[in-house]
Amino acid sequence: MIIGGGPAGYEAALVAAQLDADVTVVEADGAGGACVLHDCVPSKTFIASSDVVTGYRDTDEFGIHSDGLEAITVDAPAVYSRVKRLALAQSGDIHAKLIKAGVTLIRGTARLGEDTLGHTHRVRVRPEDGDAEYAVDASTVLIATGATPRRLPTALPDGERILTWRQVYDLPKLPEHLIVIGSGVTGAEFASSYLAMGVPVTLVSSRDRVMPHEDADAAMAIERVFRARGMTILNNSRADVVKRVGDSVEVTLSDGRVVTGSHALMAVGSIPNTADLGLTEYGVNVAPGGYVAVDRVSRTNVPGIYAAGDCTGVLPLASVAAMQGRIAMWHALGEAVAPLRLRTVAANVFTDPELATVGVSQADVDSGKTPARQVMLPLAGNARAKMAGLDDGFIKLFCRPASGIVVGGVVVSPRASELIMPLTMAVENHMTVDQLAHTITIYPSLSGSIAEAARQLMLHDVE
Ligand SMILES: Cc1cc2nc3c(=O)[nH]c(=O)nc-3n(C[C@H](O)[C@H](O)[C@H](O)COP(=O)(O)OP(=O)(O)OC[C@H]3O[C@@H](n4cnc5c(N)ncnc54)[C@H](O)[C@@H]3O)c2cc1C
Repeated sequence: MIIGGGPAGYEAALVAAQLDADVTVVEADGAGGACVLHDCVPSKTFIASSDVVTGYRDTDEFGIHSDGLEAITVDAPAVYSRVKRLALAQSGDIHAKLIKAGVTLIRGTARLGEDTLGHTHRVRVRPEDGDAEYAVDASTVLIATGATPRRLPTALPDGERILTWRQVYDLPKLPEHLIVIGSGVTGAEFASSYLAMGVPVTLVSSRDRVMPHEDADAAMAIERVFRARGMTILNNSRADVVKRVGDSVEVTLSDGRVVTGSHALMAVGSIPNTADLGLTEYGVNVAPGGYVAVDRVSRTNVPGIYAAGDCTGVLPLASVAAMQGRIAMWHALGEAVAPLRLRTVAANVFTDPELATVGVSQADVDSGKTPARQVMLPLAGNARAKMAGLDDGFIKLFCRPASGIVVGGVVVSPRASELIMPLTMAVENHMTVDQLAHTITIYPSLSGSIAEAARQLMLHDVE
């Protein structure tokens, strides 16, 4: 029994079905879960539209004369309906894949029931179609219920002017002035994409820079781009109250300043969907913040009950959720399984430019936790970057001081999400900077800078 059909749940279901298990997924919404219907897929589809606008930036530099960005009109309802269409289509594809694999899909909610004192766990299912609740006994249960946008009592979304990121796609037009509360990954991505679409954006950040959990050089490089393109960024500013006043919103900061805009987007994190699952009653350990406590093979403290994805708070990424779900099933069904390794997880922020990271961080190196040599190579010197008019961005590489084994990297550039792959492979496979440096790259290419950075470390040519 799998509770939740997001990446953690549906990828687990596919693995379990492949191993001939009898698999049922109970999902409250649709196949693919919140990831596909409300969070990751819609936001990346929206960003694909804003990228189209970005393509029209600074065309004169290339000898292409257009009427400028001002002449571009964004048909917001068309953009939003494309977002929803793609999300539904993706959900449909996943649904079909699950059915083809022999998985039973139930639309409804589920929670742990009473202990049967045997080798099975009783799950109580409440179907969405209003049929009576019923019980299913399962040898293995996977809790994969995801998370929901955090709501602050003094800034409650009304779905019209004060919005969660799941509500923006219902707006009838683009905001006249969007205030984004929260400068983490989600806040930064929406601020970046709305700015690209020509919307005046104010980003309220409670810390001294945007994306405080990301590489500082990278976050500051992106903050510089945001500011240069006209975004107002209020650092060290905590939003205390967000309220609607007629057709506008007022955001009161903790220092008493008031910021006015047409809409406010609340991007202040998520809370795990674990409150109504009967976890504590069943004896499943719940960590502070409501996360299901799991080990590296996705086991909870109760044998036979596993958990994966955002409800565990391990690392809120679809890729990690999916791997946790697969690992749970491999473990439960007796396959050989390697515990989850977070060190080699690549992550990307889909701002413009993008910010991708893998392996050890600058903070790990600076604190002495991981001894490493490093180099940071601006892309501005790269031939391909010059041709493409890219002034911002860099490649940063970390390697072990003596062996030169690559242990981490940061990429700030357009499509950093793709460019991080060679670094991820290097970290995953313990490759050395010598091996990276000996790789013949395409000329001209941005990936050439990865080999060049490796060459610099090979020569110990760093400060
Ligand atoms: C705006 C945004 C953008 C993101 N972009 C990216 C990205 O680009 N790349 C990336 O890797 N990650 C991204 N993420 C993170 C990613 O969306 C999550 O890590 C991922 O959704 C986690 O998957 P999951 O299976 O744990 O949960 P979810 O996708 O949240 O799915 C859980 C499902 O369980 C269902 N459910 C809950 N309770 C019950 C119940 N009792 N019974 C039945 N069903 C239930 C819910 O309806 C939900 O559909 C983004 C997140 C946000 C908010």
